[in-house]
Amino acid sequence: MVQRILERGEIESLDHTAFPRLRLPPPDAGSVFSPRAARLRRLAAGEVPGIPVNPALSGYLTLMMEVVAAQAETLAALDASGIALPDHAAMELAQQHAMPPLAAFAPRSPAWRGILATLLDKLDIVAEKQVELAAVIAGLRVLDADAVEELADAVIAQRIDGLNAAQAPFIAAALQVLWTYHASRLPPQLVPVLETGTLCPVCGSHPVASVIRIGGQSQGYRYLQCGLCSSEWHMVRVKCSCCEQNGKIAYQGLGSLDADDAVAAPVNKANDPRKFARAETCDDCHGYHKIFNQEHDYDVEPLADDLASLTLDVLVSEAGYSRASINPLLWFGDIAPESAPESTPESASESAPE
Ligand SMILES: [Zn+2]
Ligand SMILES: [Zn+2]
Repeated sequence: MVQRILERGEIESLDHTAFPRLRLPPPDAGSVFSPRAARLRRLAAGEVPGIPVNPALSGYLTLMMEVVAAQAETLAALDASGIALPDHAAMELAQQHAMPPLAAFAPRSPAWRGILATLLDKLDIVAEKQVELAAVIAGLRVLDADAVEELADAVIAQRIDGLNAAQAPFIAAALQVLWTYHASRLPPQLVPVLETGTLCPVCGSHPVASVIRIGGQSQGYRYLQCGLCSSEWHMVRVKCSCCEQNGKIAYQGLGSLDADDAVAAPVNKANDPRKFARAETCDDCHGYHKIFNQEHDYDVEPLADDLASLTLDVLVSEAGYSRASINPLLWFGDIAPESAPESTPESASESAPE
């Protein structure tokens, strides 16, 4: 009997261990921002056992919950007629050159400024009760197109110097809406594999955090989540998501939660909130990203959980590691006193780790 040689696609279809290397945001408009807003609400209320939140941060999380809820509404109502997606030829070109097809640094559609305007309009009702938020919104509205584009350039490049830290989350939020919309409509099989595993293959941006997924074909695999387009791409576990070395990786959890490991009552291996949020540090580059494990909290939301676990950033930075990339909804920079949001997170970062 002659054995037939299998074509490549046939081999892949026979490989039951195949898992998606890329998880694009689902095309359903509510699927990214609505769960994120719901998660921020629970985090702000202290209802997520693995991430204790102090009152100083809680107010900021509530504000960002409103921003993310406005993102969900803005995306749902988005008029996509003026927003061009890359055509097949552009996708093929990106693949040939292993370049991200929705490159964040490429010229962007001016449509995002309309998204920003809609987002701010939706926040007006929240701002009625928050003078500081109203001031930030008013400050953004008086900027001309050039100034807004300049802010967007700084946000995309994560250039903190001179950036207004109170305005930046709103700019980032508008850009996220556009890029998430775009990413959700790409054919995943045409998204190239980049030479580096540390940048988003869809838009070339930095990851905000990483997550170990459970369920279906992604079971047990670790993904990095893009801070701009919400795509998730696979990276093997125990590998630095900043420099891709794997020799000097360590994990740090929230201090008090780990300290009582020895005396704590027995906890199921799965669903142990103490193991949920960790920083993955690297002694090769002294950078870190956080890693969240869905096995220990099914409702993990990398961007929201990263934002809420500021205490872990304090612990890890005191140990000498630097954040490899910023959270788009939290910027430390030049906050003009008159435009600072009501609850700036600085007080949280200065308080003693819990
Ligand atoms: Zn991306
Ligand atoms: Zn490293």
